[in-house]
Amino acid sequence: GEYGHRLQPSGKDELAHLAEEFNQLTDRLQTTEEIRRRFVSDASHELKTPLASIRLLADSILQNQEMDQETVRDFVGDIGDEAERLTRITEHLLALTRLDSLPVGETQIVDMAQVTQRAINMLTPVAEAADVTVEATWKPGCTLRCTEDDLYQICFNLIENAIKYNFPGGRVFVTVRRDGDQVLLEVADTGVGIPEDELPKVFNRFYRVDKARSRAAGGTGLGLSIVRDTVRRHGGWVTAQRRQSEGSVFTVGFPCETPEVGGDLS
Ligand code: ADP
Repeated sequence: GEYGHRLQPSGKDELAHLAEEFNQLTDRLQTTEEIRRRFVSDASHELKTPLASIRLLADSILQNQEMDQETVRDFVGDIGDEAERLTRITEHLLALTRLDSLPVGETQIVDMAQVTQRAINMLTPVAEAADVTVEATWKPGCTLRCTEDDLYQICFNLIENAIKYNFPGGRVFVTVRRDGDQVLLEVADTGVGIPEDELPKVFNRFYRVDKARSRAAGGTGLGLSIVRDTVRRHGGWVTAQRRQSEGSVFTVGFPCETPEVGGDLS
C-alpha cells in the first residue's frame, strides 16, 4: 500500500527502538486509511441501492405503455419511498461527518428527564402505529453538561429503535436515574433482541443484525453509530445488552453536573 516504507532495525538499541515506533505509526496510518476507504465504499453501496430501485421503477413505467393507473401510482409511490430513504441516509452521513469535524460547540446543563420526555412525545405516533407501549420513570436531579440537540438525538435514536425492533403489543421501558456521580439513561424493550455475539457490532457503521427488517423499518444502519459518537463526544459511554427475559437494553452514562444554585445575584 501507500504506507509500505519500513525501517530495518539495526544493531544499535536507539535506532531499533525508533524503527519499531515508526513501524507502529505506519500500521496505525494504514488502519485509519483502511477504515476511511471502507466507509466510503460502504456509503456508496448504501446510496446505490435505492438509486438502482428508482431507476428500475422509472424504466418499467416508461417501457410498459399498457400499465394501468393503479400500478403506475404504486410504482411512483415506491420511487417516493426510495427517495425518502436516500434523504435519510444522506442526513445520517452528514451527522456523522459533523461529529467528526466540528468542535463540540456551546454546551449547557440539561436535564436528561426533560429531553427524554421530549423524544418520547415525538415518538408517540410511531409507537401507536406499531402497537408498542412506552413507559417512563425518572428521578430528579439527572442533569449533565451537553448540547440539548445532541442529547435529544441520542434519546430519540435509542427509543425509536426500541419501538422499531419490537413486536405488536410489545413494551419499552425508559428509565432516567442517578448512579453515584453518573446520570444513566436506560432504554429496555421486549422486542426481537440481539444475539450475544452481535452486541458489540451494532454500533458499527452500516451494521444491521437483520437487513430485511432494518430496510422495512426505513433504517440506515447508522443510528447507533451516531449515538456512540455523540455520547463519546460529551464524555459519556453507551452499552448494548440482552435483557434477561427477552429483548434488549441500551444504557447511556454521563458524568452528572449539578446546576449552580443562586450563582447569579445580579
Ligand atoms: P438501523 O437504521 O438499521 O436501525 P441502527 O444503527 O440504529 O441502524 O441499528 C443497527 C442494528 O442494530 C439494527 O439494524 C438492528 O438490527 C439492531 N438493533 C438496534 N436497536 C435494536 C433493538 N432495540 N432491538 C433489537 N435490535 C436492535
